Amino acid sequence: MEKLQNFINGAYCRTKSGKYIDNYDPSTGAVYSLIPDSNAEDVEDAVKAAEVAFPIWSSMSNEERSAILVRVAEGIEKRMEELVKAESKDNGKPLKLAAAVDIPRAVSNFHFFATAILHFASESHHMEGVGINYTLRKPIGIVGCISPWNLPLYLFTWKIAPALAAGNCVIAKPSEITPYTAFLLGQIAKDAGMPDGVLNIIHGSGASAGDTIVKHPKIKAISFTGGTKTGAYIAQTAAPMFKKLSLELGGKNPTIIFDDCNFDDMLKTTLRSSFSNQGQICLCGSRLFVQRGIYERFKTAFTEKVEKIKVSYPTDPEAIMGALVSEPHLNKVLSYIDLAQEEGGKVIAGGKRVHLDAPHDNGYYLRPTVIEGLSFDCRTNQEEIFGPVVTLTPFDTEEEVLQMANSTDYGLAAVVWTNDVKRTHRMAEQLEFGIVWVNSWLVRDLRTPFGGVKSSGVGREGGWEALRFFTEPKNVFVSY
Ligand code: NAD
Repeated sequence: MEKLQNFINGAYCRTKSGKYIDNYDPSTGAVYSLIPDSNAEDVEDAVKAAEVAFPIWSSMSNEERSAILVRVAEGIEKRMEELVKAESKDNGKPLKLAAAVDIPRAVSNFHFFATAILHFASESHHMEGVGINYTLRKPIGIVGCISPWNLPLYLFTWKIAPALAAGNCVIAKPSEITPYTAFLLGQIAKDAGMPDGVLNIIHGSGASAGDTIVKHPKIKAISFTGGTKTGAYIAQTAAPMFKKLSLELGGKNPTIIFDDCNFDDMLKTTLRSSFSNQGQICLCGSRLFVQRGIYERFKTAFTEKVEKIKVSYPTDPEAIMGALVSEPHLNKVLSYIDLAQEEGGKVIAGGKRVHLDAPHDNGYYLRPTVIEGLSFDCRTNQEEIFGPVVTLTPFDTEEEVLQMANSTDYGLAAVVWTNDVKRTHRMAEQLEFGIVWVNSWLVRDLRTPFGGVKSSGVGREGGWEALRFFTEPKNVFVSY
């Protein structure tokens, strides 16, 4: 059985713990590799390597660092096919989704921040007749990047690329559920000419490797994407050490459909926004609010299309949905379908686990599920499920839907479907979310601020926001 290794100081090495975690192929339910269950000693080795590398990396010119990061992007591109296969096998997502979204986006993340750093400027504030202030922006030092399993390499590189571009050294931990593409990234960075110790990739559980990274006094900032509970724990741990924190957490996003929308566009996009990546994208809309005038029409058309979605093994070229990421996660999602029914909801599509033919008979497949008849404030409509499950709720007025949409603790992303331009702006202003898409979903411009409000997180990623997070500003005043 293949044993993955940590990537520390420019070399692959075994974990000092001597322990390994099983890595499952969600499409079959079989263990197919082992992941280092890294401990504090491994993290310490990585920190020591990063300490040595930091003066070298941070004193390189932006142009030199940029050239290396562009080569990382090119290295990912060169190994596209291998990375696509690895991502799909590790996560259970359809191969064609990994080929269309995940790995190309990892390339873009490196390209984007490799070039952004060349244009990153700081402010100056002139005080007439008195003097001038200018802001220096220095890299922080050693930073920790911790990422989840749903978009493994996509989100891993979304953090690492700006951290490195800004001149930091990185201790990065991918999810223990989907470690494989992060494991391959070490070699790609090495081949791109990245100095040893600049990027260190530590595998293992959150409770051991992750916690050690968060607690390490020499790791000065943590960029974390994952669940809200984990985020709260990390904030509690890191706050007394005054670490800089960026937390991208859970969501319970509304898709709000007004009866004046372009029905066909809305229907097509709402299928994607509900079930892409098996509903395991933090931006998926899981609460569909439909204006009463088109509620029945929408319900019929939507469920008809949902019934036709092909759930299959990831390498099936016709698969629209693949396997959920793990058995515990599948069970969690199923438990919410039970809860929804206990709360009075009616399953009008899906709701059942799917058993494919061998060798995929033990894979973690679930039919896309649509539920109606629930109150907006029940647990099913308030808690994050993070799977292919959506609820339908009718509404009459803007005021009513705003109250329901804003009623959760979360505030990551919202979608509004309408052709009324004034309503568009009224809604966008009043929705308590970090991101609002109008007549669209998941259109991403990497320059825009990305992140949520309330329990969906603290801080923003993307564009200058990310480069500001990964640098420390210093104001200098020079008197005339
Ligand atoms: P998770 O919180 O269980 O784990 C995320 C990462 O944190 C993993 O690498 C894990 O090992 C690590 N971790 C766990 N406990 C830790 C600890 N005590 N200290 C340090 N690290 C620890 O989340 P998950 O199940 O991997 O991901 C799903 C969640 O991520 C969902 O809630 C989803 O909404 C969220 N998510 C948010 C965004 C966003 O941009 N806001 C994007 C993707 C996913």
